[in-house]
Amino acid sequence: MQLNYIANASVRSASGKTIPVVDPSDGQPFDEIQRSNAQDIADAVQAAHDCMDNVWHKVSAAERGRLLMALSRKIADHADELAAIEQRDCGKPTKQAKADAAALVRYFEFYAGACDKLHGETLPYLDGYSVMTWREPHGVTGHIIPWNYPMQIFGRSVGGALAAGNVCVVKPAEDACLSLIRVAQLAAEAGFPAGAINIVTGYGHEVGDALARHPGIQHISFTGSPTVGTLIQQVAAERHCPVTLELGGKSPQIVFADADLDQAIPALVNAIVQNAGQTCSAGSRLLVDEKIYEPLLARLGQAFENLRVGPATMDLDVGPLIRQTQQQRVWNFLSDAQVAGIPMVAQGQIVDEAPETGFYQAPTLLRDVPVNHRLAQEEVFGPVLCAMSFRDEDHAVELANATQFGLVAGIWTRDGGRQFRMAKRVQSGQVFINNYGAGGGVELPFGGVKSSGYGREKGFEALYGFTTLKTVAIKHG
Ligand code: NAD
Repeated sequence: MQLNYIANASVRSASGKTIPVVDPSDGQPFDEIQRSNAQDIADAVQAAHDCMDNVWHKVSAAERGRLLMALSRKIADHADELAAIEQRDCGKPTKQAKADAAALVRYFEFYAGACDKLHGETLPYLDGYSVMTWREPHGVTGHIIPWNYPMQIFGRSVGGALAAGNVCVVKPAEDACLSLIRVAQLAAEAGFPAGAINIVTGYGHEVGDALARHPGIQHISFTGSPTVGTLIQQVAAERHCPVTLELGGKSPQIVFADADLDQAIPALVNAIVQNAGQTCSAGSRLLVDEKIYEPLLARLGQAFENLRVGPATMDLDVGPLIRQTQQQRVWNFLSDAQVAGIPMVAQGQIVDEAPETGFYQAPTLLRDVPVNHRLAQEEVFGPVLCAMSFRDEDHAVELANATQFGLVAGIWTRDGGRQFRMAKRVQSGQVFINNYGAGGGVELPFGGVKSSGYGREKGFEALYGFTTLKTVAIKHG
């Protein structure tokens, strides 16, 4: 049984209740986590404040950097163990689980180096004054994490917060807690003081809500769905608590007739099947120049048919979805497509070895999806790619911006002028030209516009969000 991790100790929930942990590859329970409640959050927040007041505020930036680097090394030493935990908990194929562990190493390494480079400024002002700004931590930060990339999102969120001098109370998703409990134990071994990193597991509407409402939480980083993001923002607004919202996406991949298709096609496929399509930045809308629509769909269809889906440990192209309700959600979208007469170009194959009780979904390529259909507007959060054609640049921009989201956009063209024009006109937090995602890049600020949220995580930019700026003006005698 897995326990909460508060003040560097494993503790049971005050509720006495647990939640089963299910392996998505076979649908069978294999462990339990704590079903925590408001009392557990209160305990974690108290531990975090004690840490901040008694220990953490005195730790120098350089020493914080050493601690983050020590944790990065610990994670590297335990990368295979963490990847195996994540694989079973989330159904990730081996390559993906290992990539997530490697990203976690990089986040702590990057933020270790950033700790002692974060500083304020001196400002020119009136004669007789010295004015400066200080970047101060918020204090006790709350981190609400989704299930799709627990280790990566923990790395970017908690890594940045600690680097900026905060302490953390973390609420992982109820479907994906195990790796983060282990990372918190490793942090204690690496020398983090009791209360710097606390993990409290449980349901969002219970313990997540209690975290967001707790008056001792001084900043909230939320990564998850737009619906819950709205709730968090409302709750936080009642006590004017700053919030960073990393929400969903319906990201366009825009392919012009002059694109290098040999380069584009593997990236287009990967951007929708990685993590079984359960990726906020999945390239889930394919906008194609009408001049190459048919030939590109023919080649993509072939690539989709070659995709193999199966148990995580088989390390195929695609693993299972996280849970049965997510599988049902994808089925609902596909049955809506059928009702609307949206043509299916191709599907991948679920291998015979995949247990019937696992949560599998074959990657699916749909074409001629009407721009206002929910398949072109809402996050499926599964391996479903929706293609449509455009006439010219203006039409491509109109389609690209025609959703409530604005997280990531991919642009495929060899024309340098068009690269800049398109990058300027798409409404999106990140734009990738002739690539998609730049391999994850922990250094690259990430976040959305419109309903994809606000605030930035990753990169140095994140540290500004995890601090508040104090202006100090001294008048000399
Ligand atoms: P979700 O919003 O259901 O849950 C996210 C987290 O919020 C979980 O820990 C959950 O327990 C918690 N939660 C749920 N209800 C809550 C409440 N009332 N109060 C407080 N916390 C609550 O999202 P999900 O289904 O876990 O994740 C999928 C969504 O996350 C997708 O929309 C995806 O695009 C988005 N996402 C965004 C990013 C990004 O960086 N932009 C990254 C990953 C996932």
